[in-house]
Amino acid sequence: MRESTILLPSNKPLPVSAPIARKLERWAGLPLNILEAIGSVLIVMPFMWFLRRLDTVSFWLEGTRLRTVLQHAIFPLTITVSFFIAFEMASRGATFESIAVIAAVFGFKGLYAAILERLMPFSRNWLEGDNDMSVDIMMLVSGAFWNGFAKYLMAALFVVNLVEFLEPYGHGLWPSQLPGVVQVLLFILIKDFFRYWLHRAMHENAFLWRFHATHHSVKRLYWLNGIRSHPVEVVGQAFFYVLPFALLQPSAEIIMVSIFMQLSIGIFQHSNIDLKLGFWEYIFSIGDNHRYHHYPNKDVGDSNYGGEFIVWDILFGTFHKVKGERPHDRIGIGTAPNYPMTMAGLLIAPFLPDQKVFGQESEPAVGEAVAPSPDPSLAGLTEP
Ligand SMILES: [Zn+2]
Ligand SMILES: [Zn+2]
Repeated sequence: MRESTILLPSNKPLPVSAPIARKLERWAGLPLNILEAIGSVLIVMPFMWFLRRLDTVSFWLEGTRLRTVLQHAIFPLTITVSFFIAFEMASRGATFESIAVIAAVFGFKGLYAAILERLMPFSRNWLEGDNDMSVDIMMLVSGAFWNGFAKYLMAALFVVNLVEFLEPYGHGLWPSQLPGVVQVLLFILIKDFFRYWLHRAMHENAFLWRFHATHHSVKRLYWLNGIRSHPVEVVGQAFFYVLPFALLQPSAEIIMVSIFMQLSIGIFQHSNIDLKLGFWEYIFSIGDNHRYHHYPNKDVGDSNYGGEFIVWDILFGTFHKVKGERPHDRIGIGTAPNYPMTMAGLLIAPFLPDQKVFGQESEPAVGEAVAPSPDPSLAGLTEP
């Protein structure tokens, strides 16, 4: 089974019942398809080969005391060290050296999370993902591009002028006398209030959901796919945040540390690391909280909207956690088991007039008959 994955890593295309979109995905999306294949050969396959070497240690670790200690210690230790590094770098100002160190630390954090996942996974079913990592790397680059594009669009629409007008008021309001750590946590908490309502709206409004579905199409959670978002969501989010951010104006140092800390906490949201988070899961939107958020059925999945903090969910009644239960690992969109997984397909999917094409169709492989009726568990109908 694994051999065929190694030889032919591929992502699911758009469904056959959307023939025009499928042609568009194949031909207009050709440059993306080529990049996807190149990423697979040059990055994904060698990286996965390296990670698989850790499996022996992973099985050896199972049931040991060392694993239990690591399960408790990894999150608080990582967050403490991240705070230390971020303040140290920020105190040197936005020099080329400090920005280069921060970029290097991000790269290191990805590797750190990928290794920990392989050593102590929450689900072994989530360790391999066809060629999804190639798409996620493209999503990472595309996210940076579309964020930059949003800034130009705002300048063109004179939103920037409005922000410049509001900024001085923001500086006056910000409690800059508080300790740095408190300012960082406060900044992230207030930002997360807006994130909470935007994220909730994207789940509750059918039109916005079309774009957010890109994020929920994933079939496994791992360190990198937290960044998987449709460009419309990336640009829309930038516009949504611009006014609150103009009114929240801590110093550049606090903003720098906050961005660093958001990513440091964020990596624990999608990571497939089997941690014992205890009360941390009542403060941050990490671990099992976000696994429930990716459940295929909306009665569970429409919960735990927080970006970094989970406190807004607790306050507004959308927190989902069952005492003594661990979530299962069969995630995705219950009503759209046929959602595409290619980069081009993901970009096209929200614009398809009939979203039902992602529903019950089952694609026949060569020489294979279509199943007479879909497996109800795929649609998430049988979940507790
Ligand atoms: Zn969501
Ligand atoms: Zn997610």
